[in-house]
Amino acid sequence: MAELRSLIVVLGDQLDLDASGFDDFDASVDAVWMAEVAEESTHVWSSKPRTVMFLAAMRHFALALQHAGRPLHYTRLDAPGNGGSLAAQLQADILRLKPARLVMTAPGDWRVLEAIKAVAAASKLPLDIREDRHFFSSVRDFAAHAQGRKALRMEYFYREQRKRHDVLMQDGEPVGGQWNFDADNRAAFGAAGPGTVPPRAKFEPDATTREVIALVNSRFARHPGRLESFAWPVTRAQALQSLQAFVRERLPLFGRYQDAMWPGDPWLYHAHLSAALNLKLLNPREVVAAAVAAHREGHAPLASVEGFVRQILGWREYVRGVYWTQMPGYLERNVLEAEHDLPAWFWTGATDMACLRDALTQTLEHGYANHIQRLMVTGLYTLMLGVQPKQVHAWYLAVYVDAVEWVELPNTLGMSQYADGGVMGSKPYIATGKYIQRMSPHCKGCRYDPAQRSGDSACPFTTLYWDFLMRHETALARNPRMALQVRNVARLTDAQKQAVHDRAAAVRRGDVGTATMSARSSE
Ligand SMILES: Cc1cc2nc3c(=O)[nH]c(=O)nc-3n(C[C@H](O)[C@H](O)[C@H](O)COP(=O)(O)OP(=O)(O)OC[C@H]3O[C@@H](n4cnc5c(N)ncnc54)[C@H](O)[C@@H]3O)c2cc1C
Ligand code: SF4
Repeated sequence: MAELRSLIVVLGDQLDLDASGFDDFDASVDAVWMAEVAEESTHVWSSKPRTVMFLAAMRHFALALQHAGRPLHYTRLDAPGNGGSLAAQLQADILRLKPARLVMTAPGDWRVLEAIKAVAAASKLPLDIREDRHFFSSVRDFAAHAQGRKALRMEYFYREQRKRHDVLMQDGEPVGGQWNFDADNRAAFGAAGPGTVPPRAKFEPDATTREVIALVNSRFARHPGRLESFAWPVTRAQALQSLQAFVRERLPLFGRYQDAMWPGDPWLYHAHLSAALNLKLLNPREVVAAAVAAHREGHAPLASVEGFVRQILGWREYVRGVYWTQMPGYLERNVLEAEHDLPAWFWTGATDMACLRDALTQTLEHGYANHIQRLMVTGLYTLMLGVQPKQVHAWYLAVYVDAVEWVELPNTLGMSQYADGGVMGSKPYIATGKYIQRMSPHCKGCRYDPAQRSGDSACPFTTLYWDFLMRHETALARNPRMALQVRNVARLTDAQKQAVHDRAAAVRRGDVGTATMSARSSE
């Protein structure tokens, strides 16, 4: 066998033929390495849709590598002797293939980077880790932006990104004369509802995906989630179709209804592109360019296009910078000292709270919930309940098809749970049930009343909101952005405070919020 010069390690979220790991690839002396391993589905209790998303996309990418004439060593999950973890499988393959060095595009996750470095060191092999140029900015760019700042704020980073990459800029100024169009965005649907929303792009599973579905159903039978409606894009061609459909059909109203919710429909005017982006089937540059072109051609209003560009060029790049400049300590942060367990019904949807039941059921059904459901329904509830951030993190990382740690962790632990004490956002996002009532009709079909903070019909969100303010009163009073909310606590009588306390204790015990059999069957 001719000597193998480089073994190019490709992970399940690096499915890009143009990735830096392939620079100088020479099919006569190099080969690609990919492996499906159980550990990636078990280190958190990965849902069936998420595992299928990754494995189906990997198998289709293996076919694309074959077509591109790049030799590939691919281990399937059910291959005899599968090492079970990336490290064990790579170690075994190094012994067999004897490469002179390992090459890879920088991994997205700290855990995986450490594991591969350890394998290279143990095998005494050079490891060439290359910049991940999928992103607009490098981690070094973000570190330079962060240096010397007392506090990080997405808005400043985003404006720098707009200027540096010349996106929606004209003569050094933002197109339209302002950076932010939030005032035009974020409406609710109103009583008439969303009407006919263009349906999401769906892709019937082909033979390769069906094989993966069968494998996951048997190998991970007890894992959460369902696969009957799996229709995600798992190839680059499908991802491009999804992008085109979004820009053509939903982008014009994306901004306006970004924060709206509607029972039974998580898709609405959202892009549904996060999984394709995170697995690198799509490049953020082409996504941003398509949205900007839609504005230039008069197809989509500036407010919507700016709102969308802000998510990709701003938030997505910002959370990656936070992750890599804060890890590994970030994973351990818990400034609010939250120690409650995640309610077991997060894994089943068995709650009698209408908004949560909807978000959880859709999550388990599709591996998807939109941003406002993640932030202001599931995340809001765990924050105010006081669930240990690591447990919340493990849930979010497990259930969504787009979940990879570099993007999930700062969103969960930082933006949603405020466990980082303000690195991601300047204050905890807390609200009563009235916020959910304003943004959706959920409360109309719920047995709880968002206006009540105590008593038998009190909405658990409203109870927990007041309980949260009371529990963290001293710390929150120091935050100027929270001062107004905290001052309202002083208006409560001792008896009112006690009633909130008692009701919150009942919610924490699970006496409230957990669906009983009779409640479930009457719904
Ligand atoms: C608690 C919590 C956990 C989250 N976990 C993940 C995760 O694991 N993976 C993930 O990709 N996103 C995560 N997000 C961010 C966001 O909710 C999803 O990106 C979005 O809902 C995906 O659906 P979409 O493609 O329809 O997005 P849209 O709402 O249509 O937005 C367009 C795109 O912008 C990007 N984007 C939007 N918001 C964010 C954000 N806050 N951070 C990073 N990128 C963003 C995504 O690439 C998304 O595809 C999380 C948010 C919260 C509050
Ligand atoms: S009343 Fe409370 S629990 Fe019920 S849907 Fe409204 S916000 Fe959710």
